[in-house]
Amino acid sequence: MHPETTDQAQGEIRRVVVIGAGTMGHGIAHVCAAAGYEVWLNDVAAAAIDDGLTKIQQNLAIGVQKAKLTQAAADATRARLHAEPDLRVAASLADLVIEAAPENAALKRRIFQTVTETLPAGALLASNTSSIPLRQLAVDLPRPDRFLGLHFFNPVHLQPLLEVVRAEATSDAALASALAFARQLGKEPIVVRDVAGFASSRLGLALGLEAIRMLQEGVASAADIDKAMELGYRHPMGPLKLTDLVGLDVRLAIAETLAREIDPVRFAPPQLLRDLVAAGKLGKKTGEGFYKYGER
Ligand code: NAD
Repeated sequence: MHPETTDQAQGEIRRVVVIGAGTMGHGIAHVCAAAGYEVWLNDVAAAAIDDGLTKIQQNLAIGVQKAKLTQAAADATRARLHAEPDLRVAASLADLVIEAAPENAALKRRIFQTVTETLPAGALLASNTSSIPLRQLAVDLPRPDRFLGLHFFNPVHLQPLLEVVRAEATSDAALASALAFARQLGKEPIVVRDVAGFASSRLGLALGLEAIRMLQEGVASAADIDKAMELGYRHPMGPLKLTDLVGLDVRLAIAETLAREIDPVRFAPPQLLRDLVAAGKLGKKTGEGFYKYGER
């Protein structure tokens, strides 16, 4: 039995703290604020918080332009977003913390250590990791029963799926709160056991790595490999374009985790992926990956 006595433990989430304001963090903050939660965005880099808030503002403006939401709804969403550069202060406010810092287990553990110094006892703690088994992140958590994975998809404000990862110690109540939260965001949740790469990253990466190996072997151009899956299999986006969107560095980190945890041959990162990452060609976010991107 887990001691659960506070309001938050009954599943009521009002205030959400998002750690890391990069590709995923700003999108997660956006959808939480749009769903009515008060949101605090945290990052080690002050500029990343500013950039994240600017991108949210731009995405809201596009939504208004396309008549997907009203100006009043966009303004209300923006008003629920706050910047909080001090992690201890941010954590003290939270009913739910969602960590979206880089895909590095040691870094995430350090963040959780700081967060749990001030996190209210009944709050939920979640990681947006794409691949790291939660048991490697849950080390020394005071409330492992309140810890789970909330794996969002990029771009967060447009993608309907939310992969909810249940760690061994995650309580039924915490899982129920997470599923209710997912539905409040308008997302469709799936529940996955705590294995490296969960369901989505493992399958997506298998396709992405094979496409990179095919490009490396000269089977076809990047555009034609992507077209094969887009037109032949009705994927909305080919595996190389998708890797550019996710970030080549992020996919390399996932491949390294799955190679270590599941199979060193199946998930071995192709040399081309390593070379592009070493050259700083990380995909859309740096302007070049398998494709070149113009100025915004
Ligand atoms: P990113 O590099 O775009 O952003 C990470 C942000 O974290 C940066 O702004 C960085 O300044 C900040 N950061 C670094 N150290 C920090 C610290 N100690 N405290 C607070 N902030 C810190 O990375 P991303 O693509 O947004 O990925 C974040 C997480 O989400 C990773 O675990 C990744 O695997 C996962 N994920 C990524 C995608 C994707 O498509 N990119 C999809 C699903 C999940």
